[in-house]
Amino acid sequence: MHASNNMPTSAQRLTDIYQRIENSAKRYGPGGVIPKLVAVSKTIPSAEIAPVLDMGQRIFGENRVQEAQRKWPELKKHYQDIELHLIGPLQSNKVKDAVGLFDVIQSVDREKLARALFGEISRQGKGVTCFVQVNIGLEHQKSGVLPDDVAPFVNMCKHDIGLKISGLMCIPPAGEAAGPYFALLHQLAKGLNINLLSMGMSSDFETGIEMGATHVRVGTAIFGARDH
Ligand SMILES: *Cc1c(COP(=O)(O)O)cnc(C)c1O
Repeated sequence: MHASNNMPTSAQRLTDIYQRIENSAKRYGPGGVIPKLVAVSKTIPSAEIAPVLDMGQRIFGENRVQEAQRKWPELKKHYQDIELHLIGPLQSNKVKDAVGLFDVIQSVDREKLARALFGEISRQGKGVTCFVQVNIGLEHQKSGVLPDDVAPFVNMCKHDIGLKISGLMCIPPAGEAAGPYFALLHQLAKGLNINLLSMGMSSDFETGIEMGATHVRVGTAIFGARDH
């Protein structure tokens, strides 16, 4: 692979993202806590993920179970302490594989899935952190629990199923200012004593941090456009 001289490498872009995260956290973040960067490596081949691993980045996000299974077991042989996040929709028939591979599942969005996850996490005896995905902009084409249903859903997970929900995740509507949506997600989490907030992508992660994100999910700004 040849990088042309005037194009920044993924390693250079990563350094820039770390700096911007730190600056945003300093300016706006509560208590100076630096949010975690989830490097979104969906569609990116292992050979292009390796330089980012070599930089010390250890938290990655994938949106498809099968694609992640093709890449990560091999990468995990060469790099220790990887934390994998599932950030895409999860079918019930893939729950076993997902629990086996992922450390964090950010896309819990329905009762059937929550029950399957609880059963599989218990069977495998593995710690998996669960986030509820919230359809923050009430968009028909997007998955996620509607804002009004988040409290009953989280309580149902906790009391009826036994599944602890540690975080909320959202993808705000494209082409709109993300700030008000992130503020709403923060407010929902606060009311439920939920500490983790996954909000902000390449174009708006600084806004996410400004609104209290603990996790930002950044793909394009690290790996470049996904043209694969
Ligand atoms: C692809 C994806 C991202 C990363 O998007 P970029 O704009 O490339 O940073 C973040 N979150 C989710 C849920 C995604 O599917």
